[in-house]
Amino acid sequence: QAKLSGRNHYQLFNPADNQLTIEKQQLLHDIRQALKTDEFCLFYQPKVNMTNGEVFGMEALIRWQHPTRGLLTPLKFLPVIADSELEIEIGRWVLQQALKQLQFLHQQGYMLSISVNIASYHLQSDAFVSDMETLLAEYPDIGPEYLQLEIVETTALGDIGAITKVIRQCKDSIGVSVALDDFGTGYSSLTHLRHLSADTIKIDQSFIRDMLDDPQDYTIVDGVTGLAEAFDRQVIAEGVETVEHGLMLLLIGCENAQGYGIARPMPSDDVMSWLRHYHAEVGWVSASRLSLT
Ligand code: C2E
Ligand code: MG
Ligand code: MG
Ligand code: MG
Repeated sequence: QAKLSGRNHYQLFNPADNQLTIEKQQLLHDIRQALKTDEFCLFYQPKVNMTNGEVFGMEALIRWQHPTRGLLTPLKFLPVIADSELEIEIGRWVLQQALKQLQFLHQQGYMLSISVNIASYHLQSDAFVSDMETLLAEYPDIGPEYLQLEIVETTALGDIGAITKVIRQCKDSIGVSVALDDFGTGYSSLTHLRHLSADTIKIDQSFIRDMLDDPQDYTIVDGVTGLAEAFDRQVIAEGVETVEHGLMLLLIGCENAQGYGIARPMPSDDVMSWLRHYHAEVGWVSASRLSLT
């Protein structure tokens, strides 16, 4: 950095940049510390089959219980550690916690799956597959298919050949399942659908949000649902906020949903009680009965 020369030199003295770097360094330091002092936790958001109200899975979403700033969502701190060793460390921690929760749920008789968001840098790191094997070996009672890896297709999801290989190993030799997250937002969704042999496609919430008013979004949701069916993949709609969203999805033929309209992500302490008390939206269940007859 200090070797910057000529007319770019002034950048070194830009007070705003300097401030940013200091803040970033501070944040990195705090994140490392927080990992040691156990300030991170996972929230869980249910995934439901709307035709019968079955809760078949939960997505683990990281939160930071910050001592002074309160509860922070991932976008407040994950971007700073993107593509770094720290991102891998956090990723490992998340997998460990999620497996603990999975074991607990299964012991309580709730045979759901748990999905975990995997950063592309973590996925492409050398030890990913062997780490995954080691981790799962610590939980011999859990069928590996109950753990799902959610992968976002971004431009950062670089070398498709390398990623296809990692995913194949995870699926074929370890037996975990894989979901394409935020489907439809990337530049090469269809390429990923074709090559990554994911079990599940999660339609991005941006398409669900406006599909009742926007014919183009409706068409995308309809199209992706049809594609998933043709490719024999499970499809889940993200960001289902209202009863109407659910009804429209059922008309289209997308049975699985996740969103505030079902439940917001919740702390692990609330999960059992939520599961005991959850009732399917009556309108959804009866609508799907109607469309069957
Ligand atoms: P995502 O994996 O697509 O997760 C869904 C996000 O949408 C979550 O935000 C969730 O709280 C939010 N959401 C769920 N239902 C609704 C809804 O009905 N309406 C609206 N407006 N939002 C809804 P969150 O928890 O802030 O996470 C944001 C993103 O951060 C996640 O998007 C995921 O990409 C990433 N992320 C979260 N946890 C982890 C993690 O443990 N590791 C990694 N690498 N990334 C994570
Ligand atoms: Mg996700
Ligand atoms: Mg998503
Ligand atoms: Mg997202």
